[in-house]
Amino acid sequence: RRPSARDAFDGTAATRDGHDVDLVANVADPAEADAAAGAGARGVGLFRTEFCFLGRGAEPTVDEQVDAYRAVLTRFAGGRVVVRTLDAGADKPLRFLTPGHEDNPALGVRGIRTAVDHPDVLDRQLEAISRAARAERAEVWVMAPMVATADETREFVAACAAHDLTTAGVMIETPAAAIQARWLLADAAFASLGTNDLTQYTMAADRDLAGVAALSTPWQPAVLDLVRVACEGGAVHGRPVGVCGEAAADPLLAPVLVGLGVASLSMTPRALAAVADALRRVTLEQCRELAANALDKPTARAAREAVRDARRDVP
Ligand code: PEP
Ligand code: MG
Repeated sequence: RRPSARDAFDGTAATRDGHDVDLVANVADPAEADAAAGAGARGVGLFRTEFCFLGRGAEPTVDEQVDAYRAVLTRFAGGRVVVRTLDAGADKPLRFLTPGHEDNPALGVRGIRTAVDHPDVLDRQLEAISRAARAERAEVWVMAPMVATADETREFVAACAAHDLTTAGVMIETPAAAIQARWLLADAAFASLGTNDLTQYTMAADRDLAGVAALSTPWQPAVLDLVRVACEGGAVHGRPVGVCGEAAADPLLAPVLVGLGVASLSMTPRALAAVADALRRVTLEQCRELAANALDKPTARAAREAVRDARRDVP
């Protein structure tokens, strides 16, 4: 097979008519940062920081965190890295941070909620991110996971500002955050849709449970409609809304997301070339038509088939 445009990614992406889409990588440790840079990514839309905390009996020191974050930031000099603060709880319990037992951990103290009882842990992480950012040349944005309210957003943005982290945003992973996006984005500088959790919580279907897998797809019109609402909330304030869940890596879905108003797509590095290729085959207007078409369908299967039919050119 001859190499084609699908095999290579030069770090930029746009629709056929020149509407830029920020295509960036998800990374979870320095090795993945290497892989992302090797795949052509110039930035990171989701830097998961759990690797620094998991499997330890105690919280890492600020110095240890600074070193860990710098090891990722250093790969993206001149680019942007969106650092997500610790998303512990649920499937990622931490002895020094999360409650010992919860009947429903996915609905429990996870993500930003751990900062209610442990504001000091968040504070030390923000201190470390801030120091790492000052030591490296990447542009650092910070975002909080599992945000549900405008109050949580305001408090997180204030905590970031106290550490000179001036571009602070939220992940939209709960239906509440999507519906309230116009309020959250009054304070947050940006938002990123975590479609894995947003799908789980919208469909009330465990993201890791095979028995409900048919429900667990971002093609569900209910999920797409929440993406639309979130993007409209961002547009009220002229603030960008991206996607960093698995949905961003689907070459068929990516143009739909752009049509819904999404400004950036962050994904596993190996998907970058195919998604860039899918975007350059459509105009922004076609993206909007695909989105309107998918939204108008009663089922996930019908939404996907409608887009599939219109995009026979996508491999
Ligand atoms: C998501 O929920 O879509 C997301 C990107 O976060 P994580 O997969 O780490 O929960
Ligand atoms: Mg999530």
